[in-house]
Amino acid sequence: MGALKETIRAMALDAGFSRVRILAPFVLAENANGVLQDRYGQGSPSLLVAVLPYGNEDATTEKEIEENYRAYIAPFARRNYYKEAVKRLQNLSQTCRRLFGGINSGGIHADRRSSYRIFCNSPIPEKPLALACGIGSQGRNSLVITPEAGSLVIIAAMTLPFPLESDAPNANRSACATCGICVEACPTKAIRREGGIERKKCIQWYASGNEASVPQHIAEQWGRRLYSCTVCQDICPHNKKPIKGAETGEGILPAYVDARMIFAMSDEEIQAFFKGTAMGLSWLKPQHIRRSAGLALAYTGSR
Ligand code: SF4
Ligand code: SF4
Repeated sequence: MGALKETIRAMALDAGFSRVRILAPFVLAENANGVLQDRYGQGSPSLLVAVLPYGNEDATTEKEIEENYRAYIAPFARRNYYKEAVKRLQNLSQTCRRLFGGINSGGIHADRRSSYRIFCNSPIPEKPLALACGIGSQGRNSLVITPEAGSLVIIAAMTLPFPLESDAPNANRSACATCGICVEACPTKAIRREGGIERKKCIQWYASGNEASVPQHIAEQWGRRLYSCTVCQDICPHNKKPIKGAETGEGILPAYVDARMIFAMSDEEIQAFFKGTAMGLSWLKPQHIRRSAGLALAYTGSR
């Protein structure tokens, strides 16, 4: 069982994931309130959890953008790393099926009978799973911080049709020790000193399309963001070393776009513009992207 586990881990690392861990279902039930067990765990004795790095090579920040009408797109959204992670896991599932058996290949909306079901950026809570098997430790900013690539990663997982021994969580559950830099740096003071985020104070929460309106005190701190806020990641010491991002041609977006253009677009035009990108996912509605463009223009006095 140990050899099989290490073979699969090595295959996933070869596929470009920066950290790969295995989780057994009994741990899932305990750590994710049974959600994964109920919806995806039926007949799946174990789960592969992996992170794909987006790195910090393309580090253009919101502060570096000079023209007032320009609105910033965060590095993690400049490529569709979610799609890339799913694609890589689909390839891995094909190889696993050929070598080790199992039914069908995986995919986000794959047949529930598939032995290799993949989920990434789904309604399934991924952070508890990642913490439970030692993908990383939790930061005060609530993100999972990995040894290899800090928090500059996206999390994906795939069910496996055979029992494997679960990897242990990190002995050190917190990544922060005495650090509290992000608590001070957060523009809206959304990070609790004891750890965790007050969602309704977090710019990212609103940029992701939550809530019908953005409170004035949040709008005042919006900056030039189209999508989204990364202050607590930019400042984190775990993200300061050079971290190489996975190469992908999926859903390429620039570091900034013309906010006037986005603000003037119809819903259909916004959908067409962002189709196939990380901003084209179904939960981020055109009106929310337009709202962010308007807030960026208002912030810079261009609207
Ligand atoms: S994403 Fe931005 S607003 Fe939200 S907690 Fe981090 S720094 Fe604060
Ligand atoms: S900036 Fe410091 S406190 Fe915040 S997540 Fe990183 S290590 Fe933890």
